[in-house]
Amino acid sequence: MQADKKDIRALSKEQLRDFFVTNGDKAFRGNQIYEWLWSKSAHSFENMTNVSKETRAMLEANFVINHVKVDTMQRSEDGTVKNAVRLHDDLIVESVLIPTKTRTTACVSSQVGCSLDCNFCATARLKRMRNLTPGEIYDQVVAIDNESKLYYDRPLSNIVFMGMGEPLMNYPNVMKAIDMITSNEGLGMSPKRITVSTSGVSKMIKKMADDDVKFNLAVSLHSAIEATRNEIMPFTKSFPLTELREALEYWYAKTKNKITYEYVVWKDINDDKASIDALVKFCKYVPCKVNLIEYNAIDDGDFQQASEQATKDYITALERNNIVVKVRKSRGKDIDAACGQLANKS
Ligand code: SF4
Repeated sequence: MQADKKDIRALSKEQLRDFFVTNGDKAFRGNQIYEWLWSKSAHSFENMTNVSKETRAMLEANFVINHVKVDTMQRSEDGTVKNAVRLHDDLIVESVLIPTKTRTTACVSSQVGCSLDCNFCATARLKRMRNLTPGEIYDQVVAIDNESKLYYDRPLSNIVFMGMGEPLMNYPNVMKAIDMITSNEGLGMSPKRITVSTSGVSKMIKKMADDDVKFNLAVSLHSAIEATRNEIMPFTKSFPLTELREALEYWYAKTKNKITYEYVVWKDINDDKASIDALVKFCKYVPCKVNLIEYNAIDDGDFQQASEQATKDYITALERNNIVVKVRKSRGKDIDAACGQLANKS
């Protein structure tokens, strides 16, 4: 029965080699299958054309490949592409291709729904159903890489973990997926082109630093005032700013890798001078840059983009203090693919 079979991509290369030896074959057969599964991204055993019929039948009898399928694909008028990705158990996640003149970025999901409860985010309205497997994360990247080649004639250049879910709440699977994305046995991408974005799970930021990761870290900060942050991201009551600061100092001491703060300015929430001063102060603790992100209202939300003047005030204050700041315009708004809008509407 299909349900009793194990997803073959849950096996390491060593385990695959052992499987073949145990079944009277050569260990190198494991390497060959591993290559089909990851670097060639085979969707079925049948696709493994240089593998004997008998071996394919044996694999079929023991395993499944829980590959994802792009169910629907929408293209925005600005070129952004959003995929609704169907998983083997019929759950859906979304991932987005964001093209600019010089790069193509994949924004991928790490969970079905989200464990956290940011009030401004459409994904938070979905219950967290489960974590994605390394293979399911990897497949989203492969799908976007293919679309990038098809529509923009160039491979994917960057990956951000800013889709559905909190990546650090699915840490082992996200790390395994990144291992395969960066490995020459997978996609061979540089970790410098990957950014993991967290809402600030301090314990796990320290763990990443201890694990000596080479990718970039972004933190959705949105306020450097505890009470405001607790209000807009209620779970942060368990992750106070003092702990976040300490974790980020630890990260920088170990990795020497600057942090990016993601920050949305909302009307009547954080568009005042006290909020600006608090952010400037917070930015001085650890080398960093700030991305001010344009907000996309969600259907029934109370959050509204602040005035242009408020954004300008932030920029002036940050620049005056020599903090690098960029304004990130929203992409793919017309197809609900922009930041905070991923909610499986389709
Ligand atoms: S912003 Fe990110 S962490 Fe917060 S609810 Fe949305 S998906 Fe989860």
